[in-house]
Amino acid sequence: MDWDELEHCVAGCTECRLCERRKHTVLGEGNRQAKIMLVGEGPGAQEDEEGRPFVGAAGQLLDKMLAAIHLSRDDVYIANVVKCRPPGNRNPLPEEREACLNYLRWQTKLIHPKMIVCLGTVAAQTIIGPEARITRVRGQFIERKGYVITGTYHPAALLRDDRLKVDAWHDLQAIARYAAQWEDTSEG
Ligand code: SF4
Repeated sequence: MDWDELEHCVAGCTECRLCERRKHTVLGEGNRQAKIMLVGEGPGAQEDEEGRPFVGAAGQLLDKMLAAIHLSRDDVYIANVVKCRPPGNRNPLPEEREACLNYLRWQTKLIHPKMIVCLGTVAAQTIIGPEARITRVRGQFIERKGYVITGTYHPAALLRDDRLKVDAWHDLQAIARYAAQWEDTSEG
């Protein structure tokens, strides 16, 4: 499947009940050759309106988080586990995640990032396994199927609880240090 086919499939997808109330599907956005791919949970109200990921308050915070490690949206690719908005911003149900998973797999294959950053527990459980928790995944760099997988708190969680920001800052610094190794290797 190429990008056109993937976009077409997602735009018309009715594989789970989240299609019933969506205004727009939200496939993802950013650099399709990115070395770092960020994966959140699902679109919120504003994302559903605009068809773009992370455009609300959480998105503005995500932009600041990226800027803190000298990155912008042009440097990374941003996607979500599910491409349609769960009603009331609830977590996507296991069957909804499962129905949408192939799209995330295809995105990942097409981008072929070096690192996948799970934003929150829903992303970690989907990408790493059902037992994963972001509190345990953050700060780790797990090599799997040719990718390095790590994680940090979802920006929406940081908006709800200021105390998590210190840990998120450490996670971002660790991600930046890890990514710097690629530069060293390519220069060497
Ligand atoms: Fe299809 Fe995913 Fe939307 Fe469900 S959430 S309808 S599987 S695109």
